[in-house]
Amino acid sequence: MSTTPGQKIADEVIARYRAKTQQSAKLHAEAKKIMPGGETREVVTYKPYPAFMERGKGCYVFDYDGNEYIDFVGNYTSLIHGHCDPDINAAIRAQLDKGTALASPTVLQVEHAKILCNRIPSVDMVRYTNSGTEATLMAIRTARAVKRKDMIIKFEGAYHGTQDDAKVNVVPDLAPQGLPKAHVEGLGIPQSTLQNVVVAPFNDLDAVETLLKQYQDKLAGIICEPFLASLGTIPPKPGFLQGLRSLADRYGVLLIFDEVQSFRQSTGGMQLKENVMPDITAVGKLIGGGYPIGAFGAGRDIMDRFDYDPMNPDAIQHSGTFNGNEISMTAGIASMKKFDQKAVDHINGLGKRLADGFTGVFKALGLKCQALRVGSQLNINFTDKELSNALEWVMSLIPCMELQRLVHLELLNRGIYSAKRSEFVISTPMTAKEVDVCVQKVEETFAYLLPYIQAQTPHLL
Ligand code: PMP
Repeated sequence: MSTTPGQKIADEVIARYRAKTQQSAKLHAEAKKIMPGGETREVVTYKPYPAFMERGKGCYVFDYDGNEYIDFVGNYTSLIHGHCDPDINAAIRAQLDKGTALASPTVLQVEHAKILCNRIPSVDMVRYTNSGTEATLMAIRTARAVKRKDMIIKFEGAYHGTQDDAKVNVVPDLAPQGLPKAHVEGLGIPQSTLQNVVVAPFNDLDAVETLLKQYQDKLAGIICEPFLASLGTIPPKPGFLQGLRSLADRYGVLLIFDEVQSFRQSTGGMQLKENVMPDITAVGKLIGGGYPIGAFGAGRDIMDRFDYDPMNPDAIQHSGTFNGNEISMTAGIASMKKFDQKAVDHINGLGKRLADGFTGVFKALGLKCQALRVGSQLNINFTDKELSNALEWVMSLIPCMELQRLVHLELLNRGIYSAKRSEFVISTPMTAKEVDVCVQKVEETFAYLLPYIQAQTPHLL
């Protein structure tokens, strides 16, 4: 049987990965017996099997074969200070002897909340949840409660977590006729979800206005990731976020920013960076210092409804066993204290260095790829065309999915831990050294894969 040069390289990449990660192969086989797919979170697995990480330190992770990787995943942007940050760990150790959840309001919650309210311009008051999913769920519920309407607009490609309303058009309508058609993603999500969620392409204010006109009487709000953080790192076009603010005001709906990822863009999130104020904000990830967390907040007029009084017809209920638990609060306070302007400038500067490095690699190798960056996070995208929404991104990726998989595996072979969707995230312990090593490894990887690219994805050349 003849093997093409492309196939030969693909086989080599996988063979070297298997040779390097033999313990992971065994652990994966064991895990598969008791967890479907051998994992409990789709985003962390890939074929032939994922590397099992044993520990992390600073911006490095180590697998069970003792391989070292520079960690550009950072638990999907939540580990802003890397692994085992000494200040966060010291704070946690001290807190462990005082209790983990006291089932009362606590001083730590007040301290954490003051930090959030001081930093996020549009937020006067906050409530805590245990995940970003719950934070966006509560943000949407708040909009519905305030407006007494059920419908929301969401953007294609925006990821807001795993609740039903969020599982609509993360993957876009691939053949839209006019406005995209809304669909639920996956079994088990009621079709009735679509009665209350309509979708627009990101960066398309005309589409938003069309929906606002069409459903004006039913719409409570618009939920928006200020950039498509989980899908290509597609930034907002100049004026897009401001345009959303104006449209929300003009049509009397609430604007929700999901800043679960974008909070790291400045000391007060993308809203501070772009000077656009939403009505309701959801946050998570880094505000928990590496521990589970979410929070949602808004102006006092909206949040006062959570001061629950069953006699108040405007009141909104909110509860949760682990909300504001002492460990997440402690770690979050320590994390945010270190996440000051200097830290923001440091990671954003390294983000630029990484993106510039990747751009240089693609130019040198004559590859039609691009690094799209927003601050300290970026994505390698397999096209040189401008990307402004999820459909454009998916269409560029479809012919390159196997290449994307090989790039990811080959980077693991060369000691770089990136997200399988070709995402790279900077953490504060990184220096120019780690960034430059990553650029070099990306260059080596693409140079090595050139015969594969010539054979399988020649449109990239
Ligand atoms: N919103 C955004 C923008 C996110 O990136 C995520 C998680 N990747 C979520 C919400 C959901 O957060 P969690 O995974 O903590 O539920």
